[in-house]
Amino acid sequence: MEGKMKALRMYAPNDFRIEEIPIPDIREDEILIKVEACGICAGDVKTLHGGIRVWGTTPENRYIEAPITGGHEFVGRVVEFGSKVNGIKLGDRMVSEQIVPCGECRFCREGNYSMCHRHYIYGFKQETPGGFAEYMKFHHSGIHHIIPEGMSAWEATLIEPLACAMHAVDRAKIGHSDIVVIGGLGAIGLGMVSAARKLEPKMIIGLDLRRKRLELAKQYGADLVMNPMDMDVVEEIKKLTEGYGCDVYIEASGSEKSVKQGMGAIRFQGRYVQFGVFPEEITVDWNDIGDGKEIDIYGAHLAPYCYRPVIHGIMNGSIHTEGLMTHTYRLEDWKEAFETAEKNPDALKVMLVP
Ligand SMILES: [Zn+2]
Ligand SMILES: [Zn+2]
Repeated sequence: MEGKMKALRMYAPNDFRIEEIPIPDIREDEILIKVEACGICAGDVKTLHGGIRVWGTTPENRYIEAPITGGHEFVGRVVEFGSKVNGIKLGDRMVSEQIVPCGECRFCREGNYSMCHRHYIYGFKQETPGGFAEYMKFHHSGIHHIIPEGMSAWEATLIEPLACAMHAVDRAKIGHSDIVVIGGLGAIGLGMVSAARKLEPKMIIGLDLRRKRLELAKQYGADLVMNPMDMDVVEEIKKLTEGYGCDVYIEASGSEKSVKQGMGAIRFQGRYVQFGVFPEEITVDWNDIGDGKEIDIYGAHLAPYCYRPVIHGIMNGSIHTEGLMTHTYRLEDWKEAFETAEKNPDALKVMLVP
């Protein structure tokens, strides 16, 4: 498609710009989307402030290829597609998974595409500009999904974070006798409550400092919620478990305190899942893992094989979305939107509409 479009381009820390750039060209195996909305991720806010995991400490270990159009929580409608694309039609509402795997490296060949060594991620690499724009290209090696018409655009922008939530819950291998604690109830932590609820463990406990989030967690299926400001959470969890501790702790806040809380609350041979991302190095007593409790530690990154079940779950109501989308801004008002995402205590998910 000929013409120009508006896009929010990331040049450097604290240097994002709205620009007019050409509408992307597509190959015969690619899709052009008119973006309806794109959510702001905590990672996008960190990118604005110069997060080291994005910008690196030297040009060599820099992850982002700037300047680049940001945004990986997008949804849009098909306005053009190449002759080699099958199974879609103009006007279909679609998302594409945030990671664009190579399909050839060891991890891709073994089916672990979210660990692809030669991947792109939308909104970070030159090959895959993101959804903070009027149009975007779905890359030929991306993984695309058609969204049922019954789902709204704002719900569709939640698929990416909720899929990440589901993967973290998958990693915990939850069984029916488990007491599961989720530390941090932002949009993704709340998604974890939904995903864990589907597995029917013995009990789900949600932890957060904000009352509104605790209330939503209850609505989403948490049996119990606790505010660490009001009580000694580790003590409470011990009381609930005859002194043993919880079976599973999923860390979804990215705060050092939450890690320490988790290590304290977890039982011997419990499972600890790390999802939250820390702004800097943290310190914990590593001995709890080995010499002490013999804890199984799992990492969780991205959302392999989780988009489809999350789409299904949103449609049948088992993956909750009510109350998650708290703020909407026009693309031009991105500054205000990022500030809201970062600082407004009532903000869960903020989306930009081009
Ligand atoms: Zn995200
Ligand atoms: Zn690969």
